[in-house]
Amino acid sequence: MQCTESGVASPSRSGVCEEYCRLLDEFGNAAKEVLHLHAEQLNAILQDDTEYGRFDLPIQMANERKHEAKYNFIRHVQEHGCSEINALDFT
Ligand SMILES: [Zn+2]
Repeated sequence: MQCTESGVASPSRSGVCEEYCRLLDEFGNAAKEVLHLHAEQLNAILQDDTEYGRFDLPIQMANERKHEAKYNFIRHVQEHGCSEINALDFT
């Protein structure tokens, strides 16, 4: 289980299942990828790279993956009830 290894999640609460861990991990990794791409783009801009627009599509795709991962995670928690997390407050 990668849940605690990635530093994304530390399920100290009892009751969270492996799927919870996996989905949270996926969401965390997707969120990191978005941040990474934003950082890369910022770097390009700071270095007067006029083609910084090449990051737009990857950023958009990474964002979509992030939203999908977040949706999957929230849906699992709601359906499985394995966490007390308030899915509606989860951003
Ligand atoms: Zn679960």
